[in-house]
Amino acid sequence: MGRSPSASPRTRTARTTRTAGLARLARTLTPAALALALLAGCTGGGGGGGGGGVQGREGGAGVGDRLFPRLGNGGYDVRHYRLALEYDPRRRHIEGTAEILARATAGLGSFHLDLDRLTVSEVTVDGAPATARRSGDELIVRPRAPLGEGALFRTVVRYSGTPRALTDADGSREGWLTDPRAGALAVGEPAGSMTWFPGNHHPVDKASQELTVTVPRGLKAVSNGVLARETTRGARTTFVWRSPEPMATYLATLAIGPYALTRSRTGTGLPLVTAVAPAADRAATRRLSARIPAFLSWAERVFGPYPFAAAGAIVVPDDMVGYALETQSRPVFPVGDYTPLTVVHELAHQWYGDSVTPRSWRDIWLNEGFATYAEWLWAEENEGVPVRRSFDKAFADRANWAFPPAEPPSAARLFDAPVYGRGAMVLHRVRRAVGDAVFFRVLRGWAAEHRHGNASTEDFTAYAERAAGRSLDAVWDVWLYGAERPADAD
Ligand SMILES: [Zn+2]
Repeated sequence: MGRSPSASPRTRTARTTRTAGLARLARTLTPAALALALLAGCTGGGGGGGGGGVQGREGGAGVGDRLFPRLGNGGYDVRHYRLALEYDPRRRHIEGTAEILARATAGLGSFHLDLDRLTVSEVTVDGAPATARRSGDELIVRPRAPLGEGALFRTVVRYSGTPRALTDADGSREGWLTDPRAGALAVGEPAGSMTWFPGNHHPVDKASQELTVTVPRGLKAVSNGVLARETTRGARTTFVWRSPEPMATYLATLAIGPYALTRSRTGTGLPLVTAVAPAADRAATRRLSARIPAFLSWAERVFGPYPFAAAGAIVVPDDMVGYALETQSRPVFPVGDYTPLTVVHELAHQWYGDSVTPRSWRDIWLNEGFATYAEWLWAEENEGVPVRRSFDKAFADRANWAFPPAEPPSAARLFDAPVYGRGAMVLHRVRRAVGDAVFFRVLRGWAAEHRHGNASTEDFTAYAERAAGRSLDAVWDVWLYGAERPADAD
């Protein structure tokens, strides 16, 4: 997620006191229920009662994320989402079919999908009708016959309704955002993708995706990955977008509106698609879009090979969304945040966050600390701001010391300053401890080692220590986990 070009991290400001249902659940969950959710995450089953017998367990309503106990689901691993949506902007109504190919990681009598509100009309598993019931934002599916451990199974959910926006615990808005001029925009960090398709909505379960969207002729529908097809029949146009690499569902996006779509290729042949809303179509926007290939080649030089089959940007009016977001292969920018530093930040996330995805939400500094450090590196090379000056500024900022970056205390603090500024300070201290040659090998090697996978804070500290050939506890104890600001920056 982006931050403003000023040095202060983009901590998202609360606009409302209304608390999202998820955050409320997270706070009210009893320790026993939390233990059950954790158990479900570890074993892939055992949550919440329900089925019986060896093959009859219930899949579990979460994956054991301490900050978001109900996000994601236990008992299966999604391989591919095939989504088909029709959108009527006048009624703000979608008709959807989600085809979800998954492998059971335990014998399952039933399993959960995360889905907010929308009306489900039919669910089948492997072609046979399945029963489905709702419990808050959980859709609980019971196939006609239990699924054996290891079985590949195909769930089809037909659904419809008016998707809504969610207000996060920190007051920012995500999910399905609408604007009378710009149409609709889906952004999902951390929980908003459940507002427009059923799925396993936790970063630990990544899957490839194909999204077919039909909209009234004259509008565009822009999503992640490669534009495989655009066809107009009568009054409607259908777009097919493919993301062949695994994607965490929080990185899925969809923008529907009167966008100007530009298709080109970088010098190395990578397809580039940029979509710009009419209100954002300015000379400065076009100039910055033209620099994307140059940003990409800078990033490849520092971080290693670009991890996805396409790139680009979606530029939306400022009042559509209050932050930039690193949606996979095609980040979303409010036009006011479409600046070189924010582009560098969201581009760095393609390696750190999108390709190497946190194992749990508490590992979010692995996204934001790396993206912030990328800004520091870019500003040193291109704007004459030494990394040391960025470090000193972050060190002096009291907001960065509110909590240790590896331990965000609650869902409401997930995008607070320490995750960004102090996260970047951790990397700089690693660099000072191991020297430039090893440090830049760590940046590239970390992206290569966990390419298209998931990794935790502990994975990173172990990886950096292997590269250094020694313990880096002195760095971790103070900068990553320490409660207090050290007496001085050295
Ligand atoms: Zn970010």
